[in-house]
Amino acid sequence: HIAVLGSINMDLVAYVAKAPQRGETVTGREFRTLPGGKGANQAVAAARAGATVSMIGAVGTDAFGDRLRSALDHSGVDTDLLRTVEGPSGTAHIVVDDDGGNAIVVIPGANAALTAVDAGDEAAIASAGALLLQLEIPLEGVLAAARSARASGVRTILTPAPAQPLPPELLAATDLLIPNEHEAAALTGLADPADAARALLDQVPEVVVTLGAAGSLYAARGADPVRVPARRVTAVDTTGAGDTFVGALAVALGEGNSLPEALSWASAASALSVRRPGAAASMPYRKEIDAEAGV
Ligand code: ADP
Repeated sequence: HIAVLGSINMDLVAYVAKAPQRGETVTGREFRTLPGGKGANQAVAAARAGATVSMIGAVGTDAFGDRLRSALDHSGVDTDLLRTVEGPSGTAHIVVDDDGGNAIVVIPGANAALTAVDAGDEAAIASAGALLLQLEIPLEGVLAAARSARASGVRTILTPAPAQPLPPELLAATDLLIPNEHEAAALTGLADPADAARALLDQVPEVVVTLGAAGSLYAARGADPVRVPARRVTAVDTTGAGDTFVGALAVALGEGNSLPEALSWASAASALSVRRPGAAASMPYRKEIDAEAGV
């Protein structure tokens, strides 16, 4: 099984022709509440891709908390380790304009409580085939989980998003780092993804840089970076593409596939997700991924 420690947010999305400027009020077209958060999205992606998934996270005592918990349950994610924290759930306030551009405010809410792991979390991590981490919760919590995984010899896969400077100890406890091209550049100061990947190999043994429609790039020590093409598809909504990619990749690796095989399967999974609207809602199930990947 796969353990995920990370954020759970309700995405509050306003669709408008043009985003308001400071001091301006505009009338939008539509409003939606969509379960999200990088942690929850990766958990849903991995569960739909066929793994048993334990989500370690926190929701609030507001109505969103109940909805977020049941959305995870509904996708088959084990929510036994979710905490309910007095106060609001995490929310992301998103304005999407007609050009597909967006502006986002994230308020951590209950996610801010994830500063440590307890004995139950450690047991779930120790028995997992992989631990998935991202950076939408306090760094102390991410570090505690990474340490725990390292102590039990569990593979840690870190998505360094949102981009921020990383403590060396976290990178030292990471087996596979998966930045997108912007995060790779922010972490290294190098604009070229292959250069950035090579630089990151000083600190982690394996790096995958995702490049949107251009696919991904895989680098390991002692070899030249390898490009994995994306599938040619008509993208409708790329929100959550990266989380779908990581969730599927973790499942394929957990089943004993090599990294190149797992990357090809993950690229099929994320291609399916960009063809449909929504983040978690667009994530494909096992059968669809196998059909798309031709296995
Ligand atoms: P993030 O959402 O984290 O920024 P990317 O945009 O790099 O991540 O996308 C992750 C993966 O999803 C890519 O490596 C690619 O395989 C797939 N993907 C993303 N956008 C497209 C697209 N337009 N067409 C096909 N595949 C895509």
